[in-house]
Amino acid sequence: MPRNPRHLRSFISPYKLTGFQLHRQYCTGRTAISQFLNSLTSLIRRPQHHHNLHRHGQRIKAFTTPQDLNQFIRSKMADAEYEPGTEEAAKAFLKLQEKLQTDLETQQRAQELVLNIQDIRASISAAKAGAGTHRRGGDEVVLIAVSKLKPASDIVALHATGGQTHFGENYVQELWKKHAILPSTISWHFIGSLQSSAVSKLAKIENLYAVHSIDSVKKVLALNRLRPDGFPILNVFVQVNTSGEKSKSGVDPDGDDLWDIVGVIRKECPKLRLMGLMTIGAIARSQAAKEGEENEDFARLVKVAEGLEQRIESEEGEKVELKLSMGMSDDFPGAITMGAGYVRVGSSIFGARPSKAEASI
Ligand SMILES: *Cc1c(COP(=O)(O)O)cnc(C)c1O
Repeated sequence: MPRNPRHLRSFISPYKLTGFQLHRQYCTGRTAISQFLNSLTSLIRRPQHHHNLHRHGQRIKAFTTPQDLNQFIRSKMADAEYEPGTEEAAKAFLKLQEKLQTDLETQQRAQELVLNIQDIRASISAAKAGAGTHRRGGDEVVLIAVSKLKPASDIVALHATGGQTHFGENYVQELWKKHAILPSTISWHFIGSLQSSAVSKLAKIENLYAVHSIDSVKKVLALNRLRPDGFPILNVFVQVNTSGEKSKSGVDPDGDDLWDIVGVIRKECPKLRLMGLMTIGAIARSQAAKEGEENEDFARLVKVAEGLEQRIESEEGEKVELKLSMGMSDDFPGAITMGAGYVRVGSSIFGARPSKAEASI
């Protein structure tokens, strides 16, 4: 929780309580937070008052009890720790580093993670070698360590001592918190399903390297519009639902959406770069493929990419090479054989994941 009124201001200032200015209360005095909360509580204890919180002139929340308001403010304060560039974020990172240097359990965990990732890298090399020199995508396979629901200390360990740069996350809020406290030398990948409401936050992550889950024109236009000027170009993959499962997001491989989205990225989005296509695929197919069969989802994605490359060349006269983001813990060697340029590996590096409710960064 921030102790410094200057830092409180940065997140409290967009909010205004009717009846009195929250902002002024926070910023003029050097009042300790608890004192401030107490005075706030006593101010609104009178039940005849309505306490509405406004943002940009719009009512966003009404509080009927002091406890409600307290809780809301405390949760906002907790989030402030995760604003990039603040003293709090820097402190949180120092704490992580200190833990890595002094805590035996954390050190053992770091060693285990480094060994795990070395194993995965060896499997990637073997799969590449087995596929030969004509593999789609050539010699390049980028390993994305999928750190969703795993603590930031795991990421620091792999980044600092395991030489790992690319990390993947599924939830925007979790990614936001992690990126704020972790080094900007990390390249983040967003691989989770993308809600329109979260696009704005995602676009503002400067060291976000790629978004793998593009599935609509609306979302690419929003990403392009909300990506701040001067930030690096954001790579995007269009997610294709190769298995046709209702539970999976992604565009229909046979529909018109794919071509529309690709066109908009290429022609209307100067802040985005079309990197390629992504699929998750059906679990059953990944298991079948383990017994020596070719994974149908990966084969499908290759076909869709080839069709798209040909169409871009014939209609627009441009030769492009699309990268494929496919392959997870259970099936990445097969994906590499079939031409994956990016593999997304989580549990075989980090172990089983906790539930979302139990996870803490
Ligand atoms: C979680 C996740 C992964 C990693 O899965 P593992 O089986 O743990 O390797 C890869 N891709 C996506 C889209 C994911 O959500």
